[in-house]
Amino acid sequence: MTYSTKMLPEAIHLAAKRQFKIFPLHNPTGDAKERGCSCPKLQCDRIGKHPRIKNHLNRATTDPAQLVDWWAASPDANIGIVTGKKSGIFVLDVDDKNAGSGSASLHKLEQANGPLPETLTARTGDGRHLYFQHPGVTIKTTNGELADGLDVKGENGSCNAPPSVHANGKTYQWVNAEAKIAVAPNWLLDLLTQEDVPDADGDNNVIPVGQRNDAMYAEVCALFKTGASRESILRSALDINRNRCQQPLPDSEIRGMVASVANTHKPSKAKPSKTSRSSRNPLYWFPFDVHSFFADQHTQTLTAAQLGWRIRLMAFAWQNRGSLVNDADALFKLANADNKKQFKKSYRRALYDFEAVTRDGESGRPIRLSGRYAPTVLPGESDAMFPRQRESGRIDLIRTGNRVDAKSRGVAAFTLLLSPDQFDLNRAVTVVVNGRTLFDGIVQRDIRTLLKWAARDNDRTMLFAAELQVAVPLRPGSGQGQ
Ligand SMILES: [Zn+2]
Repeated sequence: MTYSTKMLPEAIHLAAKRQFKIFPLHNPTGDAKERGCSCPKLQCDRIGKHPRIKNHLNRATTDPAQLVDWWAASPDANIGIVTGKKSGIFVLDVDDKNAGSGSASLHKLEQANGPLPETLTARTGDGRHLYFQHPGVTIKTTNGELADGLDVKGENGSCNAPPSVHANGKTYQWVNAEAKIAVAPNWLLDLLTQEDVPDADGDNNVIPVGQRNDAMYAEVCALFKTGASRESILRSALDINRNRCQQPLPDSEIRGMVASVANTHKPSKAKPSKTSRSSRNPLYWFPFDVHSFFADQHTQTLTAAQLGWRIRLMAFAWQNRGSLVNDADALFKLANADNKKQFKKSYRRALYDFEAVTRDGESGRPIRLSGRYAPTVLPGESDAMFPRQRESGRIDLIRTGNRVDAKSRGVAAFTLLLSPDQFDLNRAVTVVVNGRTLFDGIVQRDIRTLLKWAARDNDRTMLFAAELQVAVPLRPGSGQGQ
């Protein structure tokens, strides 16, 4: 898979930092002489400005995994932001394509009422987008109603975000990417809120008869992603069916949908297993459950060779009560691989859940914090361990808020991959290993980390905004740590 170097990271960043609901738009194609649109229309009159997906108002999301999915399918897709309550913003679109009419109108309004505060602003193809905090009452989406050249993107509206490409070839750009989103002055709100429109949670959210199956299926999938229990998902789905479908589907169909999504949904997300990941069970690294094995999207993307390694190594792990040597050369032999270089490059994919699958201290659900180990090389030992029996490196992690408590054994260093879903990266992160605080401070977000993992992401759970390298000091007088 290839990813555009521009669109995906910004889409993820906007969703994470600003909590904007994002969706993919079509994008301009061709060159200045012959500009077209990525949509199938011959003469598109909304080049690069209309949604690539159906039902975008409801499907727009902050979920990085979904964003990766969409932009993997269309790396150059322009970035759409749903405006209004859903994203907590409205956008004043100052459109200067008619000889600066938008700027002139805004200037007049500001002279009469007072200047607008500085706020997050994007340069568009022919003007500016000024972002304002949503006031909580409905802001109607209008074109030129406020004044000539001034459009408002509010409820059920959307706008293109940087670095989308405009039909005229220019790129949308942030004027002040880090700026706060200002509260709009009262005079502007007064002008915008004189008339009310039903918002997206009202009448417009009705699921028409022809879309019931698709829409309900999407709702059920979305419910599973929340990690709620199957019973509560079923209850919510039945509610949505009764309240939003123009003519509700029979309950039995909804039950069937929930059952079928439960089967294919990745179990670690769908319903945390109560038994197999227990830390008392040495085999918790490799729970083997036939249904989840076949439904595991990660496994499905492995090559035949990788799948072969995985199965062989799983078998050895079972034989060793959950342990594998923490050594690539040894694993290479165990896996019966034939090309060491190839193997070293991708065996971690095959063993993706070997390392530190652990419980979230808050929800109790299994989460993955750590991506990989550095092999432990102890003083005086060569790293050619195989076939000597040695316990594998092992680390157990529990996260509570921004604090990670780790117990490690035979691990010299590990890398924590921090997902913005789990950590508040604006606050200090604390890592305590075997009772010692090894890190306490702010971890810088790094878009390269995000991209690196996004590009390797095969099970769509690896959206990490930062990496933290942790070196574990050896305990004095103990060769192996604990
Ligand atoms: Zn088009």
